[in-house]
Amino acid sequence: MHKSKAFSAASKTAPLAVTTIPRRDPTERDVEIKILFCGICHSDLHAVRDEWNEFMPTVYPIVPGHEIVGRITNVGSAVTKYKPGDMVGVGCMVDADLTCNQCKAEYEQFCPERILTYNSPDKHLGGVTYGGYSETIVVDEHFVLRVPANLDLAGAAPLLCAGITTYSPIRHWGVSKGKKVGVVGLGGLGHMGVKISHALGAHVAVFTTSPEKKEDALRLGADEVIVSRNANEMEKHQGTFDFILDTVCAKHDINSYLAMLARDGNLTLVGAPPEPLNVAAFALIGGRHSLSGSSIGGIRETQEMLDFCGEHNITADVEVIPIQKVNEAYDRLAKSNVNYRFSIDMASLE
Ligand code: NAP
Ligand code: ZN
Repeated sequence: MHKSKAFSAASKTAPLAVTTIPRRDPTERDVEIKILFCGICHSDLHAVRDEWNEFMPTVYPIVPGHEIVGRITNVGSAVTKYKPGDMVGVGCMVDADLTCNQCKAEYEQFCPERILTYNSPDKHLGGVTYGGYSETIVVDEHFVLRVPANLDLAGAAPLLCAGITTYSPIRHWGVSKGKKVGVVGLGGLGHMGVKISHALGAHVAVFTTSPEKKEDALRLGADEVIVSRNANEMEKHQGTFDFILDTVCAKHDINSYLAMLARDGNLTLVGAPPEPLNVAAFALIGGRHSLSGSSIGGIRETQEMLDFCGEHNITADVEVIPIQKVNEAYDRLAKSNVNYRFSIDMASLE
């Protein structure tokens, strides 16, 4: 076991502050990683403030962070995929049984035994797992991803959650040239959804509550921007979308987006507001619309996404911050004031 410096929150109202956590010695299947950058996902904020208490209560102290990139410093004796010096990533999961039907189908994210990177039972050390706002992490090699060498590391970190969470449903629902795609919410997930859909050749429209994000949306690859509070703008697009990706982190009127779908169009929720959303039957019935959800992606697909981003030179647009600014970043994230992902430079923790 070794000690690692980290940032943790002691309660749902406490700010994140420096602490020391234990990390296990690598078992034969593990790699040890020196963390270089960690993205700040809105899920970190939901978890730190215990907003998902009903579904996955937060165990304190919590060390968040599941958009991790770093350099391998040590590998166990049975590790075959990686060697010290390799640049790698770790996303939202660090373990699963790898034997169930979900794992066999490469959907580790749906394995009943899957262990999240933070706030899940730690079967090695007891207590709960601790995430990427820390100097080091030790992870089974199956859950470690290779980061393409051409990608900027600060901007690559958010691919490990925001990238895969948008890529997976975008691929599943066949986003491609000739399709009209909507992305609701231009934050961390939303801006990745725009970049990926654009790279696949789709016509992309952003729905935003923030008119000041319009120029950025177009620069990021959107073909048009719809200010969702403007009823006239919304009216024009009714019944025209093949696919809509909803990334909104708070309660909102989903029916107004379901009304945007064309016949057989699908709206996929990836945003995870704590409160239930009201769905009007008539928003689905007319036009045979479907509403679904999606959770991150399996390990094979996460590597596919990273390789896709490598080929297309896609990274997140990041504001790189020292970890001492993390509480300020959370306050801005809560106000949708982010351009478009915070990425923590872990050198600031030393
Ligand atoms: P984020 O950067 O804060 O972006 C969310 C965006 O939603 C905001 O930038 C804002 O965009 C819009 N928004 C915020 N409040 C709103 C409101 N009241 N009404 C309408 N729009 C609003 O968050 P994120 O990191 O992208 O995460 C988004 C959500 O996805 C979170 O709930 C997170 O927990 C969840 N998530 C899910 C998965 C999964 O596997 N399903 C993975 C990661 C994250 P505009 O300013 O453009 O309106
Ligand atoms: Zn996340």
